[in-house]
Formats: sequence, C-alpha cells, structure tokens
Amino acid sequence: MSSDVRSNAKLELFKRNTRVFNVPTNVNGTPLKVSEYYGINVFDFNKSDILTKSDKKNISDVINKRTELTKELAEKYANSVLNWATSRGVTHFTHWFQPMTGATAEKHDAFLSFEAGEPIEKLSASQLIQGEPDASSFPNGGARSTFEARGYTSWDLSSPIFIRENENGSTLCIPTAFVSYFGDALDIKTPLLRSITQLNKAATKFLNLTNNSKRSADEIEYVDVTAGCEQEYFLIDKGLFYERPDLVMGGRTLFGASTSRNQQLDDHYFGLVPDRVMAYMQEVEVELYKVGVPAKTRHNEVAPGQFELAPIFGKANVAADQNQVIMATLQSVALKHGFVCLLHEKPFAGINGSGKHLNWSMSASNGLNLLEPTKTPQTNYRFLAVIAMICEAVNRHGASLRTAIASHGNDHRLGANEAPPSIISIFLGDTLTKILEAYADGKEYTDDNEGFLDLRADQVARLVKDNTDRNRTSPFAFTGNKFEFRAVGSSANVGIPMTILNAAVTDVMNDINERLEKDLESNSNIDEVLLQIVKDLYNNSKKVVFNGDGYGQEWVDEAAKRGLPNLRTSADALKVIQDAPANTFLTKLGIYSPAELEMRFNVRVERYCMHRSIEFSTLVNIINKDIIPCVIEHKNKVANAINSQKSAGVDPKSDISVLSKTNDLLNTLVTDKEKLEEYLDKHGSSHDIAYAELIAAEILPLSEKIADTLADLESCISDDMWPLPTYYDMLFIK
Ligand code: ADP
Ligand code: MG
Repeated sequence: MSSDVRSNAKLELFKRNTRVFNVPTNVNGTPLKVSEYYGINVFDFNKSDILTKSDKKNISDVINKRTELTKELAEKYANSVLNWATSRGVTHFTHWFQPMTGATAEKHDAFLSFEAGEPIEKLSASQLIQGEPDASSFPNGGARSTFEARGYTSWDLSSPIFIRENENGSTLCIPTAFVSYFGDALDIKTPLLRSITQLNKAATKFLNLTNNSKRSADEIEYVDVTAGCEQEYFLIDKGLFYERPDLVMGGRTLFGASTSRNQQLDDHYFGLVPDRVMAYMQEVEVELYKVGVPAKTRHNEVAPGQFELAPIFGKANVAADQNQVIMATLQSVALKHGFVCLLHEKPFAGINGSGKHLNWSMSASNGLNLLEPTKTPQTNYRFLAVIAMICEAVNRHGASLRTAIASHGNDHRLGANEAPPSIISIFLGDTLTKILEAYADGKEYTDDNEGFLDLRADQVARLVKDNTDRNRTSPFAFTGNKFEFRAVGSSANVGIPMTILNAAVTDVMNDINERLEKDLESNSNIDEVLLQIVKDLYNNSKKVVFNGDGYGQEWVDEAAKRGLPNLRTSADALKVIQDAPANTFLTKLGIYSPAELEMRFNVRVERYCMHRSIEFSTLVNIINKDIIPCVIEHKNKVANAINSQKSAGVDPKSDISVLSKTNDLLNTLVTDKEKLEEYLDKHGSSHDIAYAELIAAEILPLSEKIADTLADLESCISDDMWPLPTYYDMLFIK
C-alpha cells in the first residue's frame, strides 16, 4: 500500500457517480407503489393455489395453536413453497440459521432431482422440515466432544420463508433452529423461542388473574413479545476501506488521529442525507420491502458518516430474524454503491460508536400493549405492576443482562461516555418515578399538572410534555409504551439480549402470579392486591432506577454505593455465564440447560480472544509493514533538510526539534510494539478466560497506548506520506 494508491482511491471517489438503481416497475415501466411489491419475496400460504381452504386453516392452527403438523400437510406445504419459489426463478433452497457466532449460516441445495431418469424440481416435506448441515465448522463450545458431531436444522414455522434475490440467481431461505443430535440448542434462535414461550405463559396468566371482567370472552389467549431494533451503521468508501487492513481484518480502525471537527458541531445528526447515501438507503429499503421487512425510519446519526435504520416493530422472533436480514442487506447493497457498511460498535476511536436500540414490549391477544400507561397511569395498577415487575427483573438479573450484551466491540462503547455505561439501571422518567415513589411510600399520587410544554408561541399546537424525555445515557429506558434496551451493540444478534430479558421478566412474573393466586383468595379487590405488589416490588428494586446522567463519574460512585454490579469488560461479564446461582432462573425456566450455558461460555470467551488476537497481530503488521517504513522515510527527509540548511548556513533549529520528536515517538512505538509481540508469542493462540482477563487488564491498554503514539505520528507526518486513509478521508468524503 502506498500514498499513491490512497490518493488514487480518493480520485476514483470524486469520479464516482451516484448509482442509479431500478425501482420495481410494472410491465409498462411505471414505478410500483411500495404496497404493490411489499413482501413479494415472502411465502404466504394463504395465497397458495395448491392448498385448500381447510389446509390453510390447519396450517394456521399449527403455527398459532401448536397443533401437530401431519406428514401429508407438510408434503402439501412443501409443494406449494416449491411451486411459488420456482415460479419466481429460484433454483436453490437453504436452511437459514443462526449459530452461536451471532451471524447467519446457510448451505444451499438445488431443487434439481431425478425421477425415472428425468430431471425435475423437488422439495420434500423432510427437506423442508429438517436439514443436516455439516456442523463441524460451527462453534459448539465443546459440545462435540461430549455429544455427537451432528447438528440438525429444523424449520421454525413462526418465521416466514423468504427468497433472497441476487443479481445472478435467487435462493429460498427457510428460517430454522439449529440443534445437536440430543436436542441441545447450538444456536441463538432456539433459546429465544423458548423464552418467548415462557413469557407468553406467564404474561397470559398474569393478565387473566388480574382481569376485572369475569366474562370468558375477555379471557386473554396469548401474549406476544414485540420488538423493534434500531440499527446504527457507518458508511465509508469501498476504495478507502481496502486501504485499511485493520478495518478489513477486524471491522474497526485500530488507530487514527482525530480530525479538527469530529462531531462537536453536531450538524450531521438528523442533517441532510448526502445524495449518494440517499440512493443507497432507498435501494436498501426496496430490498427490505421485498422480503417483508417494514423499514420505517432513516436518518443521519450523531457521528459523521453514521446513519440509522429502524423498522416497524413486530413479533420478537421475527424481528430478530429481520434484524439479521437488515444487517446483511445494509452490507450487500453498500458494495453496489461503492460503500462498505461498518456494523462494528466502534469503527473510529474518539467518535461515537454504533448501537442497536432494542425496543421491547408485550402485546396481548386482545391488542393490549402491556406497557401502555393510558391517560391515567396512576390508577392503571396493572400497568404499574408490569413496570414494577420489570424493575425487579433488572434488579435480580442485571448482571445477566450485562452479560447478554458483552462483546469485544461493545467493550469500546459501554462506559466510554457516549453509550450507556456498563452498569445496568432503569430510566423511568419523572412522572412514572413520582407515581411509583408515592405508592411505595404508602402515599397518594397527585398530578402536578405540569404536563404541557409552554413553547410561548400561540401558533404551535400545545405539546404534551413527553414524560419519558429522552435520556440517552440510560442502558434500559422506558420510552412511553415500551422499554428500550440501548446498551445492545450494533453488530450483536439481538436474540441473546432478548432471550435474557424475556427470561428475567418471566422469572419475576411467575413469582408474582403465584402470589396473586394466594392474595386474591383472601382479597377480591384486584386493584388493592396489585397496589401492594407494586409497593413491595418497587421498594425492593428501586435501587436500579436512575433517571440522571449515566455518563458521569458520580453515577459510577453512586451505583457502587447502591451495590449495583459494574462489569466493565467482557472478561468480567462473561464469567457470569459460569456463575450457577446467577443462572438458576435460566435453567429453571428451561431456557438453557447447564450444558448449553457451558457451551455459550466457551464459545463467547473463545470468540472474544480470537477477535482481540486478530486485532493485535493486525496492529503489529501495519506497524511493521506500513508505519515504520513511512516514519523512516520521513526522518530521512527531515535529516536531509537539516543537512541542506546547514550547508546553506541556515539555522535548522525547528527541523531538529521535528526530528527529535519523531525519534522519540518511533522509539516508544517500537518498544511497545515489541511488548505486544511478546504477548502474542506467548498467548496469541489461547482462548480461555485467563487470556481474556489478561487482554482486558494489560494487552488492550498497551494496544491503546500504541494507538496514541500512532495518532501523534500521524499528526506530524505529511498527509501524502502517511500510508493509510485518515479519519478525514473516511468520514468526510461522500
Ligand atoms: P426513537 O428514535 O424515538 O427511539 P424510532 O422510530 O427510531 O424511535 O424507533 C422506535 C422503534 O421502537 C421502532 O422500531 C418501533 O417500531 C419500535 N416500537 C414502537 N412500539 C413498540 C412496541 N410496542 N414494542 C416493540 N417495539 C416498539
Ligand atoms: Mg431509540
């Protein structure tokens, strides 16, 4: 790599035109409305000609009422899927699953088959229902040594089958769970589905126990967990991306001098979206609409080069699948526009990182949102009880929630004063906190009537003050009619935090249901019983409620006084997975077996270590191959300048100081790099928790010190000599 390549990349960039992509049209070339092509690549059995009316009813019962899927019906279903897919030019199918890596995996099979020597297209019921990918290369956290090497994928009926279109051929994707021969979950989806099942049971029971109406028609049939994931990402030019080995290898820049204008002006946030980016966003949306992902909002985010996409929320497991589709689409469409989409939590030091706000709620079969406060939350005791149960869930299982979002990338965000801290607390907003405080103290709540915002402008509609005013610093915030788990990392598979959150709430809800059954025997006044529960739960858990600034040191100190865990690094957080008492709620509810927890501990620690080792060795490589030669060249230039100044009788004072500063920086760099190499030689191939701890305590800080030295060198070496694209290049040129 050389500075020539780099300036060529920049030149190429300026020559690049905004890609024009084809909006779907009808046969006459008239653009279609979104509603006309939304979901065209999603299989809808209701539209099938092959299935009869009663087939459709039976299938819907299988999906919604968990009735058994007969072999005959499965054959018919497979046939109608095949018919639909082949009519759309699809040649292959794949079981699409989410191994413990957090990414998605697939193995394609052709529909092509032979019958009596003749080629035909075929998708049998068993091919639809079960697959056996070669599991040996997926992480299993040690399961294979104890169990059997085989892994099976099995069809998840609750998530729709879709076609992934590619310019050169399309694939039918069948969402599946991935389990071992003995039924151990080898993926992220299976525990998520289990947690949804458990929360559904608990919440349905809670609603029916606390239902004032005695009419059986008002009986709640089920409760869906709902989720909407806001996805943040960075876009940088593809040409520049390949000039940064650290981005290519690890998804983040390992060093970089900050520009004079990072995000101080905040003018990028919600600003005008550049044309080239807008074209990209529109194409992403078209692709998402076709596969039935309801992309809703798009905007610039806080950092330069950072953007966000949020879909309309839906059922939690579908939302989790869709978030995977969103991430994959953001990345694949970016390449067509000459961009690379970075999903890493912290691609640029000193600049805001990316998160994935996981919006979460529960929705009952009668349409009731359990987190809807209504106009009079103060007398909506059922709502208050749900909030109090969630406070207690965070109080009991804060450490597990923290663990659920632990990753090497998220370590750079949490506690870095830009994202919620690593201490898990709840933000409830003023009104709700006041109501709960009053009841917890055994007092009446009186509305202070400060509910309206005075804009001092009669022309503008009077705004109801948002009681849940945006506190961006809280990891887990109540935002009006849902909770927003904000500490989730941008590259994370939301299945993990969602599983833990569902399980934590279920754990508390099960206890409360038991108590309700007893209490309601002696007191038939449901409101009184609920109020007492609110009081007890809130008093017990209010130490996790914090509405203040989560970025300050004061909160860290205060949280320590309150006894809240502060698991600062992944090494600290991942150890919780091995803490049996902390995980009893998960094993008791059957979300994970002890063996499944052990696998996850091993896989996550291993991945943490591998990612870090890759970063460290990439850093060493860049220093050896790119930086040291550049610094030496720079030194020679300065030395030559000093010599010619001397022979011309000019005082070379300032150049001498430049040379000495460069020498100092180079010496520091080389010494530290050698230390890093020693660590790598000794430990680079380990992947146990001891290495993870050593990374957190010593190696990562050393690599950050090296990054500082590199940033200093970058600031004093001329731009056309510096061998790598700078933050300026990557963040500001669009
Ligand atoms: P904001 O920036 O204010 O957080 P966004 O519109 O960017 O708002 O994102 C809010 C997200 O929350 C969307 O994905 C939205 O669909 C989702 N959401 C709204 N209501 C619910 C709910 N009841 N359950 C789950 N998610 C919800
Ligand atoms: Mg949000």
